[in-house]
Amino acid sequence: MTVRVRYPPSPTGLQHIGGVRTALFNYLYARVTGGTFVLRIEDTDQTRYDAEGVEDLYETLTWLGLKWDEGPKVGGDFGPYIQTERSGLYTSYAEALLESGHAYRAYDTQEELQAMRDAGKEYDRRFRDLSPEQHAEWEAKGIPSVVRFKVPLDGSTGISDVVYGDISWENQDIPVDPILMKSDGLPTYHLANVVDDHLMEITHIMRGPEWLPSAPLHVLLYEALGWEPPIYCHLPLVVGDDGQKLSKRHGATRVLEFRQKGYLPEAIINYLARVGWSYDDKTEIFSLADLERIFSLDKISKSPATFDYKKLDWINGHYIRELSVDALYERILPFLQADGLVDTPASSEQEAIVRGAVPLIQERLKHLTDATQQLRFLFVDPVDFDLSEMIPKKLDAAATVKIFEQIVPMVRAIADRTDEENEEIFRAQAAELETKLGNVLMPLRVAISGSRVSPPLFGSIRQLGGEEAAMRAERALRRLKETL
Ligand code: GLU
Repeated sequence: MTVRVRYPPSPTGLQHIGGVRTALFNYLYARVTGGTFVLRIEDTDQTRYDAEGVEDLYETLTWLGLKWDEGPKVGGDFGPYIQTERSGLYTSYAEALLESGHAYRAYDTQEELQAMRDAGKEYDRRFRDLSPEQHAEWEAKGIPSVVRFKVPLDGSTGISDVVYGDISWENQDIPVDPILMKSDGLPTYHLANVVDDHLMEITHIMRGPEWLPSAPLHVLLYEALGWEPPIYCHLPLVVGDDGQKLSKRHGATRVLEFRQKGYLPEAIINYLARVGWSYDDKTEIFSLADLERIFSLDKISKSPATFDYKKLDWINGHYIRELSVDALYERILPFLQADGLVDTPASSEQEAIVRGAVPLIQERLKHLTDATQQLRFLFVDPVDFDLSEMIPKKLDAAATVKIFEQIVPMVRAIADRTDEENEEIFRAQAAELETKLGNVLMPLRVAISGSRVSPPLFGSIRQLGGEEAAMRAERALRRLKETL
């Protein structure tokens, strides 16, 4: 069997991390089996259609490197891949179901249906068994009708799910006679989804657990149409650390929001692969290429999978450290530009400063966005930082001034020496002043960067330039003295 899998989102909103986990698993299964990954847009619910959602979908999958083999933009033998472009096609299947007695036309008005809902009643199936004459009478009234599926009133329907095992539903528990075709002539999700999965020769349905309750209805539809149902493989729920379905309450959920926050696509892919799937108990790091070789359905778990933001941060840091200096430069540049620290395009001087600073911050970055905060002092003079930050613990302003007065004249030359030379000189200086190295360097760090936390001090001064560093140190000393 040649595997054909699909990701068929409804463009009703922006791509959610849970949806993209589904896309990833489908993509990987296609790659591992030499199969085909189909992208299909299920947009038959025009009331909820969101054009931005479609763009967001393409951008998200492209950013993550999840190329679809067939679908919008790339085409394929089973197109079109946007359901509204296929709308003429569903009618014949609805007709076939009407003819074979598996479906019926219903003429309820919106008000009547609403009244049933308000009264907490199930749909009363009143058009289910009309005689041909009664049916003709209703048609003659010119009332718009929908096509409803005749769910069997007894018996049960089951699936054998790859992840959840054998599950069976009493047919009477399946929603009462769901609508297959709306009065506007468009199919509902159920009909369009089943017809398309069949016509597109989809072999495996891998999707979120929220679709599990729809599975028996789909199986009944396949049977009614005389088709073989595909293999079902429902994925585990993605939850936050409180065990509740992952939502905005837990943090970012929209995939491109992670991009904005400075996550690398490699990290998102790596992390998402582990949300409900594992290779073994210990391996944490997987590239997309690794996953394309080793992914397997039998290692998908059915227990809810926790989305752990801290773990994702750790993995993101890992991928940031793996990048070459040039690659990291390219990745952080847009963030520095968006923050207005660097021009677009960057001047050669700015480029040199940032390239030189990359090795200083690479080890410390968890997110690409952290670079803007860590490198800000190279572009913006932190003129009015809080002076008290300069004063080391256990020292007061006067003692700090005493030490700092000795240090300020030494600053300009730092830029011309190696770290080792600077280290040695300042250690000796601290010993002479009978104080700790930290008490010597901390006030300088604050004077230069405006903060107690900065990239390594000597390297930072080298990037800033000896002149500028000396100017900042002298000014800070003056300001501190004025407080005495
Ligand atoms: N259009 C459905 C969605 O929005 C597809 C569900 C399925 O995979 O069958 O997720």
